[in-house]
Formats: sequence, structure tokens, C-alpha cells
Amino acid sequence: MTQSRGYAAQSATTPLAPYQFQRRDPKGRDVVVEIMYCGVCHSDIHSARNEWKNAVYPMVPGHEIIGRVTAVGSEVTRFKVGELVGVGVIVDSCRSCPSCKAGEEQYCDNGATLTYGVTDRHGDITYGGYSNNIVVDEHFVLKVSEKLNPAAVAPLLCAGITTYSPLRHWKVGPGMKVGIVGLGGLGHMALKFAHSFGAHTVQFTTSESKIEDAKRLGADEVVISKDANAMKKQASSFDFILDTVSAPHDINALLQLLKRDATYAQVGLPDTPPTLFMGDLIFKRRNMSGSIIGGMAETQEMLDYCAEKGIVSEIEMTSIDKINEAFERVVKADVKYRFVIDMATLK
Ligand SMILES: [Zn+2]
Ligand SMILES: [Zn+2]
Repeated sequence: MTQSRGYAAQSATTPLAPYQFQRRDPKGRDVVVEIMYCGVCHSDIHSARNEWKNAVYPMVPGHEIIGRVTAVGSEVTRFKVGELVGVGVIVDSCRSCPSCKAGEEQYCDNGATLTYGVTDRHGDITYGGYSNNIVVDEHFVLKVSEKLNPAAVAPLLCAGITTYSPLRHWKVGPGMKVGIVGLGGLGHMALKFAHSFGAHTVQFTTSESKIEDAKRLGADEVVISKDANAMKKQASSFDFILDTVSAPHDINALLQLLKRDATYAQVGLPDTPPTLFMGDLIFKRRNMSGSIIGGMAETQEMLDYCAEKGIVSEIEMTSIDKINEAFERVVKADVKYRFVIDMATLK
């Protein structure tokens, strides 16, 4: 077995604490990664605290992983020892269903294997990136350019691809007016991508203190969504809106801002169903949709695009012994815009 050290939650109500565990010995197609950095995603907190009611303990969270390859199995063809790599939200899928065959492994009809907190196809519980190493099939390992700050690349593995994929799927580009709802870990990446793709980009936020930041990160306009007059001025003018907010909010007021036939895509997952007024869809044939991360090929495309364009996440570094404080600050939205754990602090 592969010896590992990390930080785990032992129950929904206990803070994360040091934990020793084992991962499988690398098989033929496995890559062993020594973890350098891991981003702190809001999902890590929902999961560690069992807010989605499906937690498996002990839980080692973390699915925005950057590290270096320290060993490869005999059948590995794409990676060599020493390479900089990333691991994101999923580490396996069935590889044979229509979604997997289409390169959309995240929608695997038999269930993609999450990087932490589930039983994998070997029968082991998966443990995430708040740890010193990870063993992953090479199909689910990404190549990372040496050109960018690797710590700031880590959040691209979840926050980045979660926003890149829907913006690409709905073909956001020049000549389009695109709204981004929420300016947090996901929202700030959505803003950077929509701006980079050449769209006229409008940031929606409830907080006036974020106006300057939004402009710096690429917003052509910023709308305070609590300001009814400001919202009215934007009516029926958007080609696409990407909503990154998981807290309860008025989706109907935002739907009314879409043009006829335009699409509203949700990537923030509220834990209670929102109230939707169907008239807002019916009277202008608007579309309501959703999206989750991206397939492995698209995730690689996103990382390559970011290396070419110099796009990374805005991060605040933290150490593993401060992870419980970091969780509290994420819950209060008190981070610009993503915590990244320097895993050297685990030693
Ligand atoms: Zn995530
Ligand atoms: Zn599948």
C-alpha cells in the first residue's frame, strides 16, 4: 500500500485534524502524485460537514490538486516522473457509457468516481488532496504548464473548469452580452473567461464593495442586483447568464434579463429548490440549464488555454494547520477569491 498523511474530518461536527491512511499501490495505468498545492472549494466544506447528506468518514477533502509525478505504472504512456500535473473533481468513470465515450466523463451514466468521499471502482474509499500524495489512473490526470504559478493554477481544476465548460458549451464570444452572477471562487473565474472570450461581460453582485474588483477582473459593467432600477435597465438584453451562486437568491429577476431564446445556466447548487416563475421562461422561450465541471479533454483544453493566455485564479495561500479557520472564512465569503493550501506545511 501507499502510505499517506493528510487532514481529515472524522464526523460532520469535528474539525479537520491530522490523519494517516493508505492508498492503493499503483497499478499499471496509475500515476503517483506528490501534492504541492490544493485549493479549498466550498464543496469541501459542504462535504466535510455532511450538508449534502452523503458523507463518508473519515473524509480527506480536496479536489483542486497540483503536484509532481513521483512514480508511474508500467502501462502509463502520457506521464513521466517529475512532470507537473493536476487532479480535479473526478478520478474515474465507467469509460463505456455514451457520456464517457463522448468525453463527458463528469456525466457518466454509471456515476463518475469523485476524488474524495466515495467508494471507488477498486472498493476503496477515495481521499482527496488535503494530503501529501494521491494515486490516480492517468486518464484522470491533467498536464500543467510550468509557465504559470502552480498554486494559482490549483483552483482551475474545479472553479476554472466549472465556469469554462458552460461558457464554451453555449458558445460565449464576441458580440454577446453575458452576465455573471456572484463574484466568489467560481464567479471570478467565470468573469475572467467570459472577458477573455471577447464577450461584453456584466457582473451581478449584491455587494458595492466588489465593484472595483469586478472591473479589474474583466467586467465591462457591474450591476448591484438589489437595485431594482438598475436591474430594470438590463431587461431582455442578455444572450447568456451564468449563475455561480448557491445561496438562495431571486432567479426570476435575473431570468427577465435574458433576450428571447437565450439561456440561463446554473452552476451553484442551492440546497433548497428555488421558486421559478415559469412565465419568465414561456413568454420569451428562454432556456434554464445547468452544468457540472467538464470532461477530461475539455479540462486539459482549459488548462492549455489558461497557460496560453496567462489566466489563473486570485488566491490567498494558507497552511494546512489553519484549514479550519480557512473553512470559517469561506463560509463568510471572506476570501479573495480562493484559498490554496501550501501542502509543504503538512511536513
Ligand atoms: Zn469544487
Ligand atoms: Zn460512463
